[in-house]
Amino acid sequence: MIQKYEILKTVFGHDEFRSFQEEAVDSILHQKDVLMILPTGGGKSLCYQLPSLMMPGVTVVVSPLLALMHDQVMALKANGIKAEMMSSMQTGEELDLIRYDLLSGELKLLYIAPERFSAPLFLDLLRQVRINFFVIDEAHCVSEWGHEFREDYRKLHLLRENFPNIGIAAFTATATPKVQIDISNALRLNTPKEIRGKIFRENLHISVEPRIKDGKSQLLEFLKNFKNDSGIIYAFSRKQTESLAEFLQNKGIKALPFHAGLPNHVKAETFRKFVHDEIQVVVATIAFGMGIDKSNIRFVVHMSLPKTIENYYQEIGRAGRDGLDSEVLLLSSGSDMMMQREFIEQLEDSPYKQNAFNKLELISRYTGAEACRHQYIASYFEDKLEDCESKCDNCTAPEVEKTDISVQAQKLLSCVYRTGQRFGQSYVIDVLRGSTVEKILSNEHDKLSVYGIGKDLSKPYWDVVMERLMEIGALKRGDFRALMIDTIGMQILKKEVNVEIKSDRLNVKAKKEYKSHTQDVDLNTEAFESLRSLRAEIAKKEGKPAYIVFGDKTLKEMANALPADEEEMLAINGVGEVKFERYGEQFLSRCIELKT
Ligand code: ADP
Repeated sequence: MIQKYEILKTVFGHDEFRSFQEEAVDSILHQKDVLMILPTGGGKSLCYQLPSLMMPGVTVVVSPLLALMHDQVMALKANGIKAEMMSSMQTGEELDLIRYDLLSGELKLLYIAPERFSAPLFLDLLRQVRINFFVIDEAHCVSEWGHEFREDYRKLHLLRENFPNIGIAAFTATATPKVQIDISNALRLNTPKEIRGKIFRENLHISVEPRIKDGKSQLLEFLKNFKNDSGIIYAFSRKQTESLAEFLQNKGIKALPFHAGLPNHVKAETFRKFVHDEIQVVVATIAFGMGIDKSNIRFVVHMSLPKTIENYYQEIGRAGRDGLDSEVLLLSSGSDMMMQREFIEQLEDSPYKQNAFNKLELISRYTGAEACRHQYIASYFEDKLEDCESKCDNCTAPEVEKTDISVQAQKLLSCVYRTGQRFGQSYVIDVLRGSTVEKILSNEHDKLSVYGIGKDLSKPYWDVVMERLMEIGALKRGDFRALMIDTIGMQILKKEVNVEIKSDRLNVKAKKEYKSHTQDVDLNTEAFESLRSLRAEIAKKEGKPAYIVFGDKTLKEMANALPADEEEMLAINGVGEVKFERYGEQFLSRCIELKT
């Protein structure tokens, strides 16, 4: 099947398939059901777009978010492929035209939202069309065990029931094996070809830091490395997104907030500005991002603990889709965990609730992990990773100095034990530090042997020790936030287990410097900036985001190669024939100018 390599080069501009892509393409061409789990940026779209071009008929793609569909359709059109979407955003007239194109066999790909299936007439419409195969994007939304369950997705079994002979290809970036089985069952997949890519995102450099106060000074320090680069900052609440965006604006950074409470037109405008590089940073709640296809996001920061590893992995996955080095930073503190726990506690008792507690526990343990971050994530998804090759804070600083805090830990645990495992963090630390507050005196806790044994150390110091004990599971919170000692805690008390902590955490006021992992030493910066401004001009004229014209990766390759003719230009990864026809001449003459 030579044709597929030809299409790969001429339409998409790529020289070769990436890992796992060809397997997926071949299975679809053989009309087999497919379930593919590949990290964000792995190149899932190509796996169904390419076979679609090789098969007669239209491919119907179910996708959960309008923004995602819009982006995909735009990118396909830029490559000269006839694609459309049907959504509630379009006028009746526009929808009529698309229906007409669909019925007359003009379309190659049709993107639709899952709620379309609630209308019986929609299935009738599909029955009149020659469909080559169905695609379910973000397929984890079908599973209650996943992290983004969507009721509408449950209806997708209708596809198999109504079109038993048409293949279904399901794609997601995040699915544990349990979710994988759920997807397969819910969509009634027929012994699907299961393709599980490596979870490891090798171009993401991960750091996790304990948040100092509100984390603003850590954030500013981090942002120093990203003068012109796009990034997303996730904050916990709507209010926080607004105050943080304002804080950054006052520091001269082009930032806007984004959350579900903003009017639609404001959200759409912020989204547009971000995609078009008119602002640098979006400070958002998790309402932002699902489906965002902007390929040149260079950093993602979490200002507090995400709900689950799946959420976190998906959110950081938005960085570096173009394969270039990107940085992600998570700032969290023990109080985040408490807050999340309280949310979950308000849910009705159910297996779902227990599941949520477990997931929270695992993400919290991740923040305290002192071994490889990538390895931790991989093992969460039941994947194996030998070594991240210095792509996380723990692996780049294996020689970090550690302090043994076993004695302090024993004092603290013993205080929790002596006060009856009925009190919260502040109270226990007050007893340790010999406070004379009324409550301690009336409980007669000033008479305990542990009273005042920690007064040589400050309260923030004890907070850090407490946090470390939570991270390693020695302490947990029971009802009313009362601290309770777990098995590991008992072992520490009995001096069977030692407790260590990175020394710099005990220096509670220290400011940390962030080393950049995204600076490109080999890049011809002058040429890149010149090509970038040409790209911006064209994008503006066409009303498209810059990366739809050419992605950063393509532009960087072009800047370094400075092609001198059509052939050399077509050899650049990401320059296909249609793109060359549209933009080739302009970029070529700029490259020739730059060369002389
Ligand atoms: P996903 O949907 O898995 O997150 P995308 O389909 O958006 O990933 O692809 C991510 C990026 O990888 C895009 O910029 C795309 O052009 C690029 N890409 C996909 N396949 C290839 C390939 N075979 N060679 C080079 N780049 C590719």
